[in-house]
Amino acid sequence: MFDSPEDARSTTIKRLTFLLLAAVSLAVLGLRYRLKSAPAIHIKTLAATTFKSRATQPDSDFARHVEELRKKLPSAEFTIVIQPPFVVVGDESEAVVKAHSEHTVKWAVDRLKQDYFAKDPKEILDIWLFKDSASYERNALALFGEKPTTPYGYYSSSHKALIMNISTGGGTLVHEIVHPFVEANFPDCPPWLNEGLGSLYEQSGEVNGHIHGYTNWRLPGLQAAIKAGKVPSFKDLMSLGSRAFYDDDKGTNYGQSRYLCYYLQQRGLLVRYYREFVNHQKDDPSGYKTLVRLLAVRDMTAFKRRWEKFVLGLQQGYDVTVR
Ligand SMILES: [Zn+2]
Repeated sequence: MFDSPEDARSTTIKRLTFLLLAAVSLAVLGLRYRLKSAPAIHIKTLAATTFKSRATQPDSDFARHVEELRKKLPSAEFTIVIQPPFVVVGDESEAVVKAHSEHTVKWAVDRLKQDYFAKDPKEILDIWLFKDSASYERNALALFGEKPTTPYGYYSSSHKALIMNISTGGGTLVHEIVHPFVEANFPDCPPWLNEGLGSLYEQSGEVNGHIHGYTNWRLPGLQAAIKAGKVPSFKDLMSLGSRAFYDDDKGTNYGQSRYLCYYLQQRGLLVRYYREFVNHQKDDPSGYKTLVRLLAVRDMTAFKRRWEKFVLGLQQGYDVTVR
């Protein structure tokens, strides 16, 4: 049958190559079939595998975490999707929960890490997406023993969870995703920057491959406060501790922080500012000195007047570049 031993060897190699290719094709088809026919409550193994090299936690930790999470689910309606470094769990349809995981959670995580955050949160955090306010309020109480103080959603560091009323939109979800990343990468971050970045990205999209915040509903309140002369100096805002920032807020802290971040973004300085602030935090815990240096201004009162004029000229839905 064979003219020479070389021919026989080459034919054997060809046959082995063919068998190998056939085996690989069958394995790929098998995997696709398994993914397609996955049940409603399932572990999205593909996402975990894709992220294996980048996720802090190994796949086995996610698998174990999901097993524990299954025992806590309030009903069979919930879908679980592994979206490192988070696990997303929601009571909308499976397709909708997957879409939120992919188009909101993964989208924001990838872009925030690209510009700001080298480290994932230390532990696996759950993102609970409740389909309406009734589910949100009922389940926050049942699962975490607390009644939400906001209709939109919040991050609970102690429960290692983001607890969201997803019917109010994905903006708050992106805002809350910022917080555990700040906690992991900049533990002493003052509240103004933590909330400035969170609220900047609650209305965001992509510009030149980077996450970009747009003007939003916090603008009119800030404009009114500027007109009324009620916005404090940046030095005061930036040196506020948690209690003063959150509990004694006259209603301008979030807006002023957001639109300072927005101004820096529009001047192309925000990412640089963040990085320099992180590097100089020991000498400058509020970030004020880094801000003055980066803006290259001598008179911060004059700068505040310029910033106020800039904010008063903004409109919701329009993006203004500062040169
Ligand atoms: Zn926040």
